[in-house]
Amino acid sequence: MNLNFLGIGSAFNVLQGNNACYIKEGNSLLLIDCGETVYERLNMYNLLDGVDNIYLLVTHTHSDHIGSVGTLANYYYLSLNKKIHIILDYNSKIKEDIKTLLRIFGLEEHMYYIETPDFLDNKFSSFKKVRYQEITHCTQLISYACIFDTDDGEIFYTGDTNDISVLKNLLTRIDKIDKIFVDTNTSSLPVHLNVDLLAATIPQEYRNKIYCMHFNNQDCINKAKNYGFNVVKVSSN
Ligand SMILES: [Zn+2]
Ligand SMILES: [Zn+2]
Repeated sequence: MNLNFLGIGSAFNVLQGNNACYIKEGNSLLLIDCGETVYERLNMYNLLDGVDNIYLLVTHTHSDHIGSVGTLANYYYLSLNKKIHIILDYNSKIKEDIKTLLRIFGLEEHMYYIETPDFLDNKFSSFKKVRYQEITHCTQLISYACIFDTDDGEIFYTGDTNDISVLKNLLTRIDKIDKIFVDTNTSSLPVHLNVDLLAATIPQEYRNKIYCMHFNNQDCINKAKNYGFNVVKVSSN
C-alpha cells in the first residue's frame, strides 16, 4: 500500500506543508489528517475532482493535523451537498473536541458523519481494515496512531508521538510489518521522535521499513536519509 503525501512538515515548517497523506481509489478519497495547509493542497492537486466519498482519519487535534477540516467539511456540504465521513476510534477521546471545533466552524452535526474504523472495512482495495492505537505525544493532547492491515503486512502510521517504546514494540514483530511511517525531528522539544534516537533504536537491517515524515527542517530530512531511512515526498497522484 502506498500513502501519497500532501505535506511532510511539522507544525512550524511552512516550507514543507503540514504532514498529511491520502489514498485515492476511484471516487473515494481517504485522508489521514487535515491540517491548516491540507485543504489548499487538495485543491492545488485537483484531488477533490470526481470524489464522492471523503473519509478522514484524525490522529489528534493539533491544528497542523486538523486546522482545515472546517473548510473541507463546509465546502463539501455547502457547495456539493455531500457530507464527509470522519473516522474516529471506538470511544474516541477526541470526539467531543472535534464536534466542538466543527460547531465553531459553522457545522451542525447533520452536516457531516462520524463513523468508527469498521466503517472502512473493505472499502479500499489497498487495505482490509484500519484501527487506531492510543499513543503519547505531548502533555496537552491525546494522539492516535493508525494501523492498516494489508496483504503485505501492517502499515503503522505514528501520527505524532514522543514514545520510542512504540517503535521498540514494533521491532519485536517486524516480520509482520510492511512499513512504519514515523514523525521525525531534530528539535529539542520532547513531542516527536528525534532522528538520532531513531537511528540508535532501529538496526540497519530494518531501516528500509521506516518512512520518516513530519520533518521540522531540511537538516532533519538530510539526517534521516544519511541514516538509511526512507524519506517521504510530496506527491500529487
Ligand atoms: Zn504534528
Ligand atoms: Zn502534534
